[in-house]
Amino acid sequence: MELWFSEFQTKNLSMSARVKETLYMGKSEFQDVAVVDTHEFGRMLVLDGVFQTSIFDEYIYHEMIAHVPLFTHPDPRKVLVIGGGDGGSVREVVKHSQVEQVEMVEIDGVVVEVSKKYLPEISAALISDNPKVSLKIGDGIGHMAAAENVYDVIIVDCSDPIGPGEGLFTYNFYKDVYKALKPDGLFVQQTESPFYHQELLCRLNKDIKALFPITRTYLAHIPLYPGGTHSFTIGSKKYDPVKVDTAGFTDSDLNLRYYNKELHKSCFALPNFVQNLLK
Ligand code: SAM
Repeated sequence: MELWFSEFQTKNLSMSARVKETLYMGKSEFQDVAVVDTHEFGRMLVLDGVFQTSIFDEYIYHEMIAHVPLFTHPDPRKVLVIGGGDGGSVREVVKHSQVEQVEMVEIDGVVVEVSKKYLPEISAALISDNPKVSLKIGDGIGHMAAAENVYDVIIVDCSDPIGPGEGLFTYNFYKDVYKALKPDGLFVQQTESPFYHQELLCRLNKDIKALFPITRTYLAHIPLYPGGTHSFTIGSKKYDPVKVDTAGFTDSDLNLRYYNKELHKSCFALPNFVQNLLK
């Protein structure tokens, strides 16, 4: 019998992957958690029925959410990752030699545990007891509200704006992010599909612009995510990711499969419909 896993990307559209094996299926305090091995994407993490990451294309998302902000900040020593329970963002962050400490605050310990067990390629930095990495199981919203002038770079590697992730897409949360950053700090958040989440992307852009002098949106091609094109938004107090001098970038040392210095520039070139959305 053929088994398929379907994600409803909108009310009227779904994407399905043929499953080889269901490796884990359970319910945490916060969400339904599954890991399935599929023919096209390999092993995938699924939360509340939504595809989160896959062995096939995870490098695109994790490299783009980590290296664009980390190569923008000239001296990123202290980094915070909110969410990111699969460990992929932390794996990329620790590749930067200037980073002295990376804190990760993930609300759901079950996501971390199943990722360590079934997705070790992605969660490698959480498995290896890297001394730079500290993991806290807790709510990123409360953590941010309590922090002031601490971080150089904050990476909001969250799930969709439903369930525990909803409060991570609000003006009040961005106010706390601003406060938690040092005077020259910057943050990035995954901001969903420019095709299917246009209202959200507009609202977030407006909220971030109201707080940060520099707000930039960039795109990456990610086959797993709705529409195949995914957006990320940076709010920065001082450094403009578009204006950084990429000549001295050491990206070739970091064993990267997607991000490079040319892409650092080109990912900010937005199609007209996205530019119009963000006006
Ligand atoms: N790459 C993924 C995507 O965009 O589909 C996101 C990956 S990561 C698995 C998202 C994580 O954010 C989940 O593990 C979820 O538990 C976590 N999360 C959601 N809300 C959170 C909150 N309020 N505080 C901390 N972590 C949260």
